[in-house]
Amino acid sequence: MFERKYTRPINVGGVIIGGLAPIAIQSMNNTDPRDIAGTIRQIEALAEAGCDLTRLAVPDLEAADAFAAIRRRSPLPIVADIHFDYRLALAAIKAGADKIRINPGNIGGPDRVRQVVEAVRERQIPIRVGVNSGSLSREVIDRFGGVNAQSMVASALEAVAMLEAWDFQDVVISIKASDPALTIETYRLLSAKTNYPLHLGVTEAGTRREGAIRSAVGIGTLLAEGIGDTLRVSLTAEPVAEIEAAYSILQALGLRRRGPELISCPTCGRTSVDLIGIAGEVEERLKKIKTPLKVAVMGCAVNGPGEARHADVGIAGGKGEFLIFVHGEIIKKVPEAEAVEALMAEIARLSGV
Ligand code: SF4
Repeated sequence: MFERKYTRPINVGGVIIGGLAPIAIQSMNNTDPRDIAGTIRQIEALAEAGCDLTRLAVPDLEAADAFAAIRRRSPLPIVADIHFDYRLALAAIKAGADKIRINPGNIGGPDRVRQVVEAVRERQIPIRVGVNSGSLSREVIDRFGGVNAQSMVASALEAVAMLEAWDFQDVVISIKASDPALTIETYRLLSAKTNYPLHLGVTEAGTRREGAIRSAVGIGTLLAEGIGDTLRVSLTAEPVAEIEAAYSILQALGLRRRGPELISCPTCGRTSVDLIGIAGEVEERLKKIKTPLKVAVMGCAVNGPGEARHADVGIAGGKGEFLIFVHGEIIKKVPEAEAVEALMAEIARLSGV
């Protein structure tokens, strides 16, 4: 297996990012930040899905006021997302933000950076320095001949240096591009040059399916190289889908596990049951189970239990029927229409429910 790079740990409202802490999973709310009840409902759904911390945009002072009310009722630490206006950063810090995400390079100079640093230092909260490929300065683009790994890393490290100038090091860095290949190259370079924890993500990744694949390639490659301490899978979808995709990526690398893992065969000419439909139904019903079981849904009885012998429980199709097996042993045979119920009953039994 791969070795994770040890980074300087920071504390975000009780969630540790960096060091040897588990990779923290983040999302961002897409409710109106002034809608307190709606935002709280969405944060609760994220918490239920296994999110570790979430982020709220703070576009104006009204949103900063609502932020205070939301933070008081939130089950998760909340990061305040600030663009350009240092007064909004100060308001969000006062409103109880557990971290602020800002680019010190574009809030208007050293004095404003100092005011933000003093405010976060007083409340002992960290800063995420967020650099995006789309918002690099003309000067840095010219210096490095375009938007590339070098210009993005230089921009991030110069922004961090503005915080270090005020002796502030409670920092996590993100440096996102919408292109997974550029994201990988950029984070590799950044990781070689800094010991701050890194927040991974492919920005504007896309819709549920395409975005999850692009994120899995970008984020997954870096994690497999030991790079990265926290992540957000950005999807054009409801935020809970981002958490599901994050767990799939972390689970595939053996980095974190939550609930059951489903393995299913690709189907072939031997399949004579509706395996695709059944696997989809099982996947949906497993979302409510918290026990870390390995569940197999296989198309045929000949290879099924054998191919899935590492599974805790599974089903293998025959002609209009399924075999149910537990730890590689066949325990019974049921008609196809009853297979999902029978499998779920075994899962409930193994979960001790
Ligand atoms: S488990 Fe059986 S049905 Fe599924 S792909 Fe393998 S051989 Fe084909």
